[in-house]
Amino acid sequence: MAGWARVRDWTGRALRLTRSLRFRLTLTYVLFFSLLLAFVGVLFYPLLRSIMYEQVDETLDEEWDAARGYLHYEKYGWDWLPDPYDSDEQLTVRRLKDVFMLADSNGKPINTDQIAVAEIYRSIGIESPAEIRGRLQRLLRSKQEYETRHDEDGIPYRIRSGALKLADKVQRPYYMAICRSVAVEERTLQGITTLYLRVLPLLIGLSSVWGWFMAGRALRPVNSVAQAAQRISGSNLSIRIPSRGAGDELDHLIATFNGMMDRIGTSFEKIRQFSTDVSHELRTPLTVIRGQLEVALLSARSEEQYREAVQAALEDVERLSHIVRALLLLSQSETGQLVLQKTELDLAAMTHDLVEEFRVSAEEKHVRLTVDLSETCPLTGDRIQIERLLSNLLSNALKYTPEGGSVHVRLSREPGIAGIEPATARLTVEDTGVGIPAEHLQHIFDRFYKVPSADPEKGLGLGLSFVAWIVKAHGGAIDVQSRVNEGSRFTVTLPAGVASLTTAEA
Ligand code: ADP
Repeated sequence: MAGWARVRDWTGRALRLTRSLRFRLTLTYVLFFSLLLAFVGVLFYPLLRSIMYEQVDETLDEEWDAARGYLHYEKYGWDWLPDPYDSDEQLTVRRLKDVFMLADSNGKPINTDQIAVAEIYRSIGIESPAEIRGRLQRLLRSKQEYETRHDEDGIPYRIRSGALKLADKVQRPYYMAICRSVAVEERTLQGITTLYLRVLPLLIGLSSVWGWFMAGRALRPVNSVAQAAQRISGSNLSIRIPSRGAGDELDHLIATFNGMMDRIGTSFEKIRQFSTDVSHELRTPLTVIRGQLEVALLSARSEEQYREAVQAALEDVERLSHIVRALLLLSQSETGQLVLQKTELDLAAMTHDLVEEFRVSAEEKHVRLTVDLSETCPLTGDRIQIERLLSNLLSNALKYTPEGGSVHVRLSREPGIAGIEPATARLTVEDTGVGIPAEHLQHIFDRFYKVPSADPEKGLGLGLSFVAWIVKAHGGAIDVQSRVNEGSRFTVTLPAGVASLTTAEA
């Protein structure tokens, strides 16, 4: 491809001219404009022609009427009878004689001493008697006819014909025609057409230049979007394109782009934070395990000491595998691979069992753990996930409640209205812990989100996002109320009752 046929796009890349958006926009514009001009020409030409011919026809009508006025049928035949004292009339009749012809009802042209077919008809031709007879028949119904014929030199003539009826003596109609050259009109039309055809390429050329300029101008903001997008990299996500304040589609594009950059920035920040947390979480137990094993190797004397070291290392390995499990679970729930295995459960019994499991650690921490359960609370759900939900809420409550505080778990069943509203199970986990600052409340269910300072054990920030996912997957809702240094209350509502069992996905 030749050099001229290439342009540079906004990223500076060489682009085939025909592929550039600017070229295609211009081409579309020019094509449309040319079609419009051609259409105007095609429409305008016959219109102009018919207007000109209408004027000619009007003049012919007047002349035809005048000829009829001056013609008289005397006993010896037809004759012109202008006022002998009126020179104007004499002149008019002389002119009419040059463009006039009369034929009888048999179609035979009348050529007497008084009435003669004008010279010009020899050149533009006289219809055959049969044709004249046929035309007379039509003219008796339609009053007048017009046609255009050319003489031997190609000069166009307009001919107006009509039937001449004599009221009394002679009943048969006569055929009378008056003609007039329309050479001037045709020349004018020709001139206008030539001028239009000459100006047309000029107009198209000008429109191409204008189109190219306008397309370039319109695409300039797209250019800046592309350039900004090019400058963006993982470490430079703060770039935003300033709005032009025009409120048009391109400003909308810029706003959408900036919004997208905000979201990408947030996701990037989360992922960066997550990688730091994960590596930190994994490094701590690994360092501890390594230290324990090294110390054991160097200083352990008895089997008992080895056993203790291995035992301690095993606990940290357990912690490691917990983190890895959480990460795996996260990716499964995100990709929709985690499918709920729903069975009939009693939420009251499950809550009771789990609270009992946490009782020991609550006592160790000197936190009062109380529970208030309804008799039974039947529910259709995934046992493992519901246990995970309870255990996450309980462990958080204990984790963020200092010594001397209390955690209260309540479960109630609210009966629905048969056929209208299903029964619901309402589970509340309330603590008198550190609470969550208001600005963080709306984010705590987000993945990897942690309230910065209130996290003594440095969790992964995944627990509550799992809780929210499990609640959603069971068709329920979760709500949180919290005050700093006073405590938090998490309320989960789940559809209760035993429904027909289906395997649901998140
Ligand atoms: P993690 O597993 O790190 O605890 P979560 O998703 O369970 O993460 O919780 C997210 C954040 O919510 C935590 O960083 C913590 O600050 C806050 N949080 C959760 N539960 C409580 C609670 N009962 N009291 C105070 N803060 C809480």
